[in-house]
Amino acid sequence: MNATQRFSAKAHTRPNYNYSNFHKSLLHENNREDYALRHIYSLENTKSLLLKWKWTPEDIKAGIEYATIDVYQHFVYLHIPAYIIKRDEKIKIRGISRFISKADFVTVLINRAWSKADPYKLEPGDSWDELIAKGNTGDFYEVKLYQYEITCTCHAYRGLQKAFDQDAAATKQLINNPITQGQIPDKHIFAAWKYIGAESQRQYEYQFAERRDRFLQEERRTQWENWQEDFDDEAILTC
Ligand SMILES: [Zn+2]
Repeated sequence: MNATQRFSAKAHTRPNYNYSNFHKSLLHENNREDYALRHIYSLENTKSLLLKWKWTPEDIKAGIEYATIDVYQHFVYLHIPAYIIKRDEKIKIRGISRFISKADFVTVLINRAWSKADPYKLEPGDSWDELIAKGNTGDFYEVKLYQYEITCTCHAYRGLQKAFDQDAAATKQLINNPITQGQIPDKHIFAAWKYIGAESQRQYEYQFAERRDRFLQEERRTQWENWQEDFDDEAILTC
């Protein structure tokens, strides 16, 4: 199988590099199914890591297309050469060769989703535990609130779910992360957190309970008012 031609992310499929067995297990016939590589160990997330490590945007731009990202079972190896050959000329660029913890990639993924999450793109749904997210292309996604998690019907949510299914060590980091505690970091879900006033899974669970109680109280009040009206009507009829 030669995945090189089919996969857009060159960093995951360098023909002259011998990847770890775990990395090879993440590559599929259909590259759309390379969920962990595409969602967690993407070039975009790697760029964010380099920025965090004080690389300048110019250094990142010069080096990122020469990056090799090799995902092992418990960590990630990143390599950018210190020299590149351009038009037969050897050019010095900023290089790197190091192992990275999967926690770093998961944290970057969470931070990027958080910064993209826009609560103003949400609308109330049909019930108190449902919100509707508007996509950029005019589509709508259902964001469903449960006591311990939120789900979303968008493609990114499903892709992220499958990405974590492929990678047990990354899942462990997502569960251990104090912000997410296992919640899939989809931008619509974080938008819902912002919408109901939560910045972490713990705060979400609290806000969810408050929201549910408010709804139940409101429901009881309307029921009571309806009974009152019925009672008044009957009282008039029996007069
Ligand atoms: Zn979503």
